[in-house]
Amino acid sequence: MTEAVETVDILIVGAGPVGMTLHLALAAGGQPSLLIDRRPPADLQTDPRALALSHGARELLEQIASWPARAATPIETIHVSQKGGFGRTLIDRDDYALPALGYVVRYRDLAAALAANLATGSLLAETEILGIDADDDGATVSLRQAGRQRTIRCRLLVHAEGTPGDDPAVSVSDYDQHAVICEVTPTPSHGRRAWERFTPDGPLALLPLGEEYAIVFTLPPAKADAVMAMDDAAFSAALQAQFGSRMRFARPGPRSRFPLALRLRDTLVKGREVWIGNTAQTLHPVSGQGFNLGLRDAWQLCETLLRSGIDAASLGDYAASRRLDRRGGALFTDRIVRAFSNDCAPLQVARGLGLLALDVFPPARHFVAKRMIWGARAWP
Ligand SMILES: Cc1cc2nc3c(=O)[nH]c(=O)nc-3n(C[C@H](O)[C@H](O)[C@H](O)COP(=O)(O)OP(=O)(O)OC[C@H]3O[C@@H](n4cnc5c(N)ncnc54)[C@H](O)[C@@H]3O)c2cc1C
Repeated sequence: MTEAVETVDILIVGAGPVGMTLHLALAAGGQPSLLIDRRPPADLQTDPRALALSHGARELLEQIASWPARAATPIETIHVSQKGGFGRTLIDRDDYALPALGYVVRYRDLAAALAANLATGSLLAETEILGIDADDDGATVSLRQAGRQRTIRCRLLVHAEGTPGDDPAVSVSDYDQHAVICEVTPTPSHGRRAWERFTPDGPLALLPLGEEYAIVFTLPPAKADAVMAMDDAAFSAALQAQFGSRMRFARPGPRSRFPLALRLRDTLVKGREVWIGNTAQTLHPVSGQGFNLGLRDAWQLCETLLRSGIDAASLGDYAASRRLDRRGGALFTDRIVRAFSNDCAPLQVARGLGLLALDVFPPARHFVAKRMIWGARAWP
């Protein structure tokens, strides 16, 4: 017997934070959509990452009642420096008349806040895609859920599956760095200050999270192997050596690691398929741009669809509207990582001068700060 074909306007593949944001924003505008994910929802609660979210991200999440206020720690100042070199700059919320420059939230708390707003039946979890047959008017997706095969016809297929695997449409530039992440207890307390410390091994970020610091310790793969294998005392000492002596770190929590590469999809739209979030661009975590960018993808796509409907012209408008923000974000993080992750003496002097210039020349500092707070809206 042939399965009946179900129909939806918009099918979103991937119920991570970006996919869920799109679904909820569309629902708030009266446009239904269906989410599917290959994992059980409980898996989102196992993600160890802490995310620095911009002030702009908070504003968007508040509009869909998904801002995890109680789980968010404000960042009031950001200290940027380089190990073994001169120059530093301090970005302060007081210069921007904002309650905070940004916020630090655990991925799992953000995911839980979004998932709490999903209506019953809006997510097909533990669902495997068997095939996609796309044409000019939409896509027919065959899938298996709970042992049952289903076929869904949609007018728009949104890919929000997160970091892509091998795909000829995605260019990959490896950083030869891994991020080792964990939480540590600082002494003295963090005072809501984030630190971005550039070292020849890669950037080290300390993000205030509750009473702890969430650490993103970037290292070449072999050094990451060694750091992952250390006992807690040796790990704290390695972190201390990288950061310097201004604070002491104790009680490191469980460690996880992520290999880092820049992955950029060459086109965001193909027929009635569109790619958003990490599946469109996966960035180095330096300066915490990835989810913020994915959130703006979801928001912009939602606004375009609600305003102009689902057709080729509106999808073209969407792709054009995201060009500056995503390319700017990718270039910004890529240039920072490559310029700072080495111990070349002339570059060290140039970096020191750059950091000094940011410190003594407020317009330059404001430009960087506003990009972190607002994304492309910071550009003139
Ligand atoms: C160490 C580290 C630190 C970071 N720090 C920050 C930060 O401070 N600030 C920031 O903004 N960003 C940060 N990021 C980036 C951020 O984590 C990502 O940008 C964000 O998680 C992307 O969300 P997403 O929903 O696109 O993808 P994901 O979170 O990966 O979700 C994708 C979903 O799709 C599902 N899926 C995948 N394939 C399929 C399939 N075939 N069928 C069905 N479902 C599927 C998955 O199960 C998952 O639920 C960091 C990243 C790393 C690695």
